[in-house]
Amino acid sequence: MERTLFREEHDVFRKSVRAWVETEVVPFRETWEEANIVPRELWLKAGAMGLLCCWMEEKWGAPGGDFLYSTIVTEELSRARASGVAFSLHSDIVVPYIHSFGSEAQKQRWLPGCASGKLIGAVAMTEPGTGSDLAAIKTTAIRDGDHYVLNGQKTFISNGHLCDLVIVAAKTDPAANPPHAGVSLLIVEAGTPGFQKGRLLKKIGMKSQDTAELFFEDCRVPVANLLGKEGKGFYYLMQKLQQERLIVGIGCQAAAEAVFDYTLTYCQERTAFGQAIGKFQNSQFKLAEMATELEIGRHFLDRLLLDHVAGKDVLKETCMSKWWHSDMLKRVADQCLQLHGGYGYMEEYEVSKAFLDARVQSIFAGTNEIMKIVIAKQLGF
Ligand SMILES: Cc1cc2nc3c(=O)[nH]c(=O)nc-3n(C[C@H](O)[C@H](O)[C@H](O)COP(=O)(O)OP(=O)(O)OC[C@H]3O[C@@H](n4cnc5c(N)ncnc54)[C@H](O)[C@@H]3O)c2cc1C
Repeated sequence: MERTLFREEHDVFRKSVRAWVETEVVPFRETWEEANIVPRELWLKAGAMGLLCCWMEEKWGAPGGDFLYSTIVTEELSRARASGVAFSLHSDIVVPYIHSFGSEAQKQRWLPGCASGKLIGAVAMTEPGTGSDLAAIKTTAIRDGDHYVLNGQKTFISNGHLCDLVIVAAKTDPAANPPHAGVSLLIVEAGTPGFQKGRLLKKIGMKSQDTAELFFEDCRVPVANLLGKEGKGFYYLMQKLQQERLIVGIGCQAAAEAVFDYTLTYCQERTAFGQAIGKFQNSQFKLAEMATELEIGRHFLDRLLLDHVAGKDVLKETCMSKWWHSDMLKRVADQCLQLHGGYGYMEEYEVSKAFLDARVQSIFAGTNEIMKIVIAKQLGF
């Protein structure tokens, strides 16, 4: 499908991003998968190339583009199955919190480093005891003079090990009723006494993305690091989670298109019973079904992207995209693996990793069940 939402300068940008990913990321994926982390230098290189915080103004040292540039970075990384390179989490999820809700002093202190790749961001909501039910978090941040004293534990935090800044959701008023009214967001810097990063968690897919536990024990965070207003954290999260869900949709569509493309080639090249496996009617039906889903997904997503960039209220549609595109990717990756036969189960075949990487997409950024709850609410329930 010809995509009409990008301008010529976006297309030029895509070419340079694709070339950069081919040389700076693809040859190292396996090494990083073994290490369960990507090197910090990659972030600095990305910053120098203008791949971080693409949408942010030049006065912060960022490229001064729009969200479509970020979309291109996400698409190109997903297309190359660079699942550990969490630029979009930093650029399009974490930094927007500081940009939208931060004070001028906070912006001056952190935004330039975020744009250059010197500072890597993470957001910590999930705890061992609660994920979907965000208002039930147990981490507390109790005011003591000019500081909040932070106590609690977070888990599954992406960029958890590399992060220099982490936006922590904590209860500044644990007795608040309703509970979500007690949630605030604090920006905690790595190295703050009482803040410890735990082990890198071993995952079945997305192996090069650093995912870690974070511990806070009597960690004194300056009141100046409170993001926005006390007790408004839940509201800020709800506002920004929309773009996070959309990014999942964007990545899933691009990843599914890539898996489909190389599976199509495989079906033309691999033979069985004296003919290409793509000649079997079953293979053709499966490929036809996947091509249809990809086309439908692309139309929906590009329309949604335009509305999102135009600032329209797309809460329902972003939730629809998050669940549908992630489930679609899981279907496509599974089916493509099947078409690869035994080779699909071998680690050296990309499709096996794409299959494992895909699995988490319906879990993080709000599970698909939670997405459907939000959609149902929008339908009046
Ligand atoms: C690789 C990875 C990276 C992650 N990165 C981050 C990160 O950077 N920051 C962060 O804060 N978190 C992160 N997470 C955590 C992720 O957002 C949570 O795992 C997710 O929100 C689900 O929470 P949970 O694991 O506690 O599952 P639970 O909330 O315990 O849910 C378990 C099951 O119950 C279902 N369920 C729960 N409530 C309902 C309901 N009301 N109705 C129907 N079904 C329901 C869920 O859909 C799910 O199927 C990451 C997770 C992973 C795996």
